[in-house]
Parts: sequence; structure tokens; C-alpha cells
Amino acid sequence: MSEEFFWWTDEQKAIYKEVRQFVEDNFEEAEEYFWNTKFPWPLVKKVAEKGYFGAGVPKEFGGLELGATGSCIVAAQLGRLYAVGHVFTVSMLAGLEQILRFGTDEQKQAWLPKIASGEELGALCITEPFAGSDASNVFTSAIKDGDDWVLNGKKRFITGAGVSDRYFIYAKTSDDKDLRKQYGHITAFMVEKGRPGFSLEKINPLIGFDNVPNGYIDFDHVRIPDFNRIGAVGNGWNVMMAGLNFERLIGAAVFSGLFEDVINLLFNFTKRRVQFNRTTNQFPGVQDGIAEIITKAKVSRLYSYHCAKLLDDGKEPMVEASIAKMINTEYAREIALKAIQILGGDGLTKFLPAERILREAKIGEIVAGTNEVQKMIIYRFSAMLPFYNKPMRLRWNENVNAPVISKKESKFKGLDLTEENVLKVISHDYKVNPGLYMTPDDVREDIGGSRSELRRIFEQLEEHGLIVIHRDRSGKPVLVKATYDGLQKAFPKEYYQWFPDWYEDSDKF
Ligand SMILES: Cc1cc2nc3c(=O)[nH]c(=O)nc-3n(C[C@H](O)[C@H](O)[C@H](O)COP(=O)(O)OP(=O)(O)OC[C@H]3O[C@@H](n4cnc5c(N)ncnc54)[C@H](O)[C@@H]3O)c2cc1C
Repeated sequence: MSEEFFWWTDEQKAIYKEVRQFVEDNFEEAEEYFWNTKFPWPLVKKVAEKGYFGAGVPKEFGGLELGATGSCIVAAQLGRLYAVGHVFTVSMLAGLEQILRFGTDEQKQAWLPKIASGEELGALCITEPFAGSDASNVFTSAIKDGDDWVLNGKKRFITGAGVSDRYFIYAKTSDDKDLRKQYGHITAFMVEKGRPGFSLEKINPLIGFDNVPNGYIDFDHVRIPDFNRIGAVGNGWNVMMAGLNFERLIGAAVFSGLFEDVINLLFNFTKRRVQFNRTTNQFPGVQDGIAEIITKAKVSRLYSYHCAKLLDDGKEPMVEASIAKMINTEYAREIALKAIQILGGDGLTKFLPAERILREAKIGEIVAGTNEVQKMIIYRFSAMLPFYNKPMRLRWNENVNAPVISKKESKFKGLDLTEENVLKVISHDYKVNPGLYMTPDDVREDIGGSRSELRRIFEQLEEHGLIVIHRDRSGKPVLVKATYDGLQKAFPKEYYQWFPDWYEDSDKF
């Protein structure tokens, strides 16, 4: 798994080698912070000194300018150092994309060099007690007072709470119902630690992320200058969305690097564990399990860098980023569970890293948008993509006496637009697609005519009980099908019958 992908630039290949070495050199130290449950400050400082926090920051602001691909490379490798990877990730996600896209020159000068140097850690603050998956439902408010904004509210589940200096937050700047409907009620702000009224409320005891603080923060009349507003007032939702693809990708990639360590551990372990007078790697089930893990590791890695390339090419890979997030975290859980099974009892102890991966993977399936939300995005955006929604018509092929996907014109094309002919088209469709309705455009494609003419005929046929119309909320016909009366009126019974050649005539009735 030490492969570099051929499309990486020389700089990306170089950083890959370099960060790998850094990780190898610092494994043991990372373990010590885990065992002592200490935030790995010295290790975070080492990462900062190396400049890795600047992976996605342009060179003019002190970064390495390695794009989404470079950020992914660094996140995946640092993820092998557990807490360090999560801190790195969230710090990068705390406004980097948003400032790059929506920040003024002065804001870029003020914050990007700090992100790049890692001298300050950042936290991303979307979630609130009453706003989880429904991220637009924020209650934290920002009210303009002179040249300042005054913030009130709470954020929760914030990774890096307390240890971070910069908090990139989304607050409600309007209660207007119409603005809310258009997501125009949210604005993005940067809040620095130390502002009067800004405090840490709670640190969550969690299933995983053992030595990364995660908690609640409280804004009690916190005053910040208008300079700290990122993007226009009311444009917070767009600011949030603009960074999401990058965030999901990096948040997912952080898991993919450590799959390599699991595989390495499994080969080492199973070549040394003997049961029934054989090393356990000789059992087909164990080999099968390791093969599955290797497959998942390779697939998730390839998919992450595919998504990163799309981002670097200036695309908005909404579906791909959600898939990357979903598969990396699901695979992480499945890989960890499988690894534990292969390791047996040892896998359940904290002396081996499999149980820790399982706990972190479960977090991964919930953070940065739950995997159910990712599936919702994958479905909704794909449903709009022309690529997946090309017209596909089955037509009756007389040569084979069966329905086949066809680009040929309908046999009804050009007939007069009468009730009788429209009923024939709709009834014929029962022979081709017995359980499906037709869209009005399907009918129009088959027989021609204008939409309004067809709609009039549909309504007449419905009145006569010959078709059923399925309407949308506004009452517009969106689907039609023939009733049994309609089918009988359109064609004789034999028209709809179909039997395979081997079926005996004597058994027909
Ligand atoms: C360890 C950890 C770190 C985190 N770090 C941060 C951070 O740094 N910054 C930050 O802002 N937030 C952070 N979060 C919050 C995280 O993003 C949210 O927990 C997550 O978005 C889910 O919100 P929720 O927990 O309120 O669950 P809910 O939204 O209440 O969801 C509960 C269940 O309902 C399902 N559900 C909700 N809506 C739908 C829907 N429309 N369709 C189908 N299913 C749905 C969910 O999938 C889930 O199964 C973190 C959370 C954890 C646990």
C-alpha cells in the first residue's frame, strides 16, 4: 500500500514519502499519549513545524499548496497517529475552504498563515443541542450592534473544543420566515478563544477519540468585530456547503491510512499464532478475512484520491465526497470488526489497535453528516443527474415477441390525437410494462401532440373511468395508467396474452 498514484504531482509524491516517514518515526510517541490519555501537544507542534497543516493552503499564505490531494495524503498518514490525525483534520476544516472562497484579502492575510503554520488549532462549529443533521436549524444568534456582532448560544460535539484557538461558527442572523426557507438566515463567523463571554461548557466522555477533547462551547454576549464575518450576511449556508465536499473527503481520508497498519498487524500476528498445529494464516477463513480487508482498503483509498482529483480539477463532487465519506467510515468499522475476529481475544484488548479503530470508525459513521445523510445526498443528487436519467423505453419487439429496450419510434406515432388512440397507447403500455404507470411525456413521445391537448384527453378518459391519473400536489397529472375497463376497451384479451413456446395449448384458458 505504499503506492503513489500516477496522477499525483511530484510535490504530492514527495510529501507522501515524507509524511509516511514522519508517521513511522512518531508511532510510539503517539501510543504514549493514547495510553496516558493526554492531548498530544508536542506531537501536534512537530506536525506544525513540518508545515503539514499548510497542505491545502496556497504558498502565498505560507502553505504547501498541495490541494485536496495533498491534504488527503497528509490526513490519511497522520490518521495513523490517531488523535493527531483528527486534530489535524478538524483544524484544516475549520474555515480553510471557506476563507479561501469567501474571505476578503485582509481575512486571508489574517488567518491563512495561522492555519498553515499550525501555530493555532481550529475547530469547526456547526452542531448545536437542537441542530444535528438538520444543520440549518441553528439557534446560536448573531445580532449586529454598531460595527460589532453579539453572539449568544451554544455549540456541541465540537472536536478540539478548548485546545483550539479559532472557532469557525455558523449563527442565525435573521428570524424572517421567507429567508429561512431559502437558507438565507445563517452567517459564518470566526471567533477567537479569549473573547469575553466565550467559554468551554463541557468535555464529552466518548466511545473513542480517546485523547482528543470534544465538547460544548457557550457564547454569552460574545462581541466580535464585523471583520470576523466570513462571506455576506445571510450567505452562511452557501459558505457551509462550499466547504462540505472538501470536509467530507478529508474527514474520511483520515481513516484510510490506518488500514495499512491493520493489514500489517494481521500478517505479522497470524504468521505467529499457532492453533491446531497450524499458523492461523493457513485457515481459509482467516485468509478470506484478510483478503476482504485488503480489498476494502484499496477501494476506499482509490476512491478518496479520485474524489480529491475532482476537487483539484475545480469540480464540485458532491456525490463522490459523500460516497468517499460513507465507504471510508463503513469500511473502517467492517475492517476493525473483521480484524478483531481474526486476532481473537487479543483483538479485544487495548494492547492491539483493532478495538480503537472500531471505536473511532463508529464515530466516523456519525460525524461530518451521518452516513444516512450521505445516502440521502447520494440519492438526491444522482436523481437529478442526466447521466443516470437518460430516457429508457421498452417497446414490444414483434420479431422476438417480447419487450426490449428500444430507440425505435412507437407504432402509434402519428395517429390522430383522439381518446381512442390515446387509450390504445396507454393500454399497450400494460402489455410492455404491466406494473408501471406512464408519464404524460411517455404518452406524448409515443403518439405526439401538445401537452395541453393530451391533458384534456387524459381528463376525459379519467371521467369515463378508462384511465387513472396520479396527480402532484398542484393537481397536475404526473402519471397515467389504464383501468381494467380501459384495457378491455382498447384491445381484445388476446392482445395482452403471452405464453412461452413450451407451454401447452391444452393448459391455456
Ligand atoms: C465525536 C464527534 C465529533 C464531532 N465533531 C464535530 C465538530 O467538530 N463540529 C461539529 O459541528 N459537529 C461535530 N459533531 C457532530 C456531528 O456532526 C453530529 O453528531 C452529526 O451531524 C449528527 O447529528 P446528531 O448527533 O444531532 O444526530 P441526529 O441528527 O439527531 O440524528 C439521529 C439519527 O437520525 C438520523 N437522521 C437524521 N436526519 C435524517 C434524515 N433526514 N434522513 C435519514 N436519517 C436521518 C441520523 O442519521 C441518525 O441516525 C461531532 C460528533 C461526534 C460524536
